[in-house]
Amino acid sequence: MKYIFVTGGVVSSLGKGLAAAALGTLLEQRGFSVLMQKFDPYLNVDPGTMSPFQHGEVYVLDDGAETDLDLGHYERFTSGKLSQLNNLTSGQVYENVIARERRGDYLGSTVQVIPHVTDEIKARIHEVSKKMNADILITEIGGTTGDIEGLPFLEALRQFKDEVGHENVAFLHVTLVPFIKAAEELKTKPTQQSVAKLREIGIAPDVIICRAEQPVDDDSRNKIAMFCNVAREAVVPFLDIKGTIYEAPLKMFEQKLDRIVCERLGLETDPPDLLEWRNMVDRIVNPTHVVKVAVVGKYIELMDAYKSIYESLTHAGAANDTHVEVLRVDSSHIEKQGAEALLGEVDAVLIPGGFGERGVEGKVQAARYARENGMPYFGICLGMQIATIEFARNVCGLDNANSTEFDEETPHPVICLLEDQKEVTEKGASMRLGTYVTHLEEGSHSFDLYQKKVINERHRHRFEFNQNYREQFEKAGLKLVGSSPDGLLGEIVEIPDHPFFVAVQFHPEFQSKPTAPHPLFKGFVAAALERRK
Ligand code: GLN
Repeated sequence: MKYIFVTGGVVSSLGKGLAAAALGTLLEQRGFSVLMQKFDPYLNVDPGTMSPFQHGEVYVLDDGAETDLDLGHYERFTSGKLSQLNNLTSGQVYENVIARERRGDYLGSTVQVIPHVTDEIKARIHEVSKKMNADILITEIGGTTGDIEGLPFLEALRQFKDEVGHENVAFLHVTLVPFIKAAEELKTKPTQQSVAKLREIGIAPDVIICRAEQPVDDDSRNKIAMFCNVAREAVVPFLDIKGTIYEAPLKMFEQKLDRIVCERLGLETDPPDLLEWRNMVDRIVNPTHVVKVAVVGKYIELMDAYKSIYESLTHAGAANDTHVEVLRVDSSHIEKQGAEALLGEVDAVLIPGGFGERGVEGKVQAARYARENGMPYFGICLGMQIATIEFARNVCGLDNANSTEFDEETPHPVICLLEDQKEVTEKGASMRLGTYVTHLEEGSHSFDLYQKKVINERHRHRFEFNQNYREQFEKAGLKLVGSSPDGLLGEIVEIPDHPFFVAVQFHPEFQSKPTAPHPLFKGFVAAALERRK
């Protein structure tokens, strides 16, 4: 097995995850089986308890692991299915080390960062290598070189390299090469210093990926190569991408990143087959039509909070030869200005997942507006609960119907906790998480789109559709068309005599890929296009 470690320098948000994922695409298209993982130096056991404002989206895997959003990139850019083993945080490392200490595994020793914490980190790399078969394991280290939290991870990688042999390990370092306007110059010093920091620890990068807003000129490349002790062609410029992030593998290919890495690791193959990928990028960049979709949420100012939703809309757009222009609408603004003012111009409305009471009434107004105006509506998780609450109040006449998440005293708890969730007191990893089976009703809109009766979708929620109201809803025109195999949990509601009103308790956005768009997103964008016409 070959190992590639991707570190970051100078600043965060450089697109390290994207660079790693793009390399994953190229190596996979060269015929290797590639597995990707992320190490996050923060002390949370997983990002599940962090606010989207802190961390962006929480990406959920099949096995229910709540992980960093970079794992979303990995799953969209490669075909590898990831598991909880593929996201390691310092919180998990210390949790394990302390559990071992209490068990007496280290009896007699003083437990220390080196070797106990670093051993734990290396053990994870070995475990992943053993359990999940692949030719190449790409590991991205979160944070920035020089962070205190990151040091044990870098030290572990240094040891790891010596243990498995230098010829099996490649280090990629992603840095920023800023352009100083007044001097009209690119500056290489931050890169030099960040590489010096890495070398202090005993890691010499093989490739330096330079994020830059301006083309990296020969002088700068030579300078970085010389000061950082890498070959000139291993200084790889990574400029801002104007079209779509899915161009990243193509840009990296132009810079020969995959070839350099393969040579470094002694891997020989034909160049990658990028035909399908190029066609997909072309469909995204050059569409014929355009639609405008409102995404109504409460973390709307943050591009990362609904990352997988936006990506899924892009995939579905490409499949419909359509550019999906997303209007990000803060639901609290709907509360102040009314739905018509903010949604009057759009072709469709999507309400994504969310937690807590703030902004809920604005979302209810948005769902009502879409329902009453025959505007395509796609509700996801909280968006499904909102659609149910809205229908209960405004069609069934159930005044003050609500979810018990927002109003424990509501006379009509149309969304509520099941008995087993009522006993849960811990917040971490205690929701209904991961993949569950849903059975679809034949003839429903969802069935038409999936073209199958049994589907697997990922979940992340606590509250459920209250089956006691099912009959009343169905008589009034809101049908439950997807349920858990035992029929106890409501998974999909639809309004059959509406152009597109589909709301799901699960998260389809975690399974959409650019080369395989999710059927519900595809149908939603098609409905938006229909309305536009
Ligand atoms: N807050 C809701 C619940 O816990 C919805 C969760 C979500 O949208 N992910 O059920």
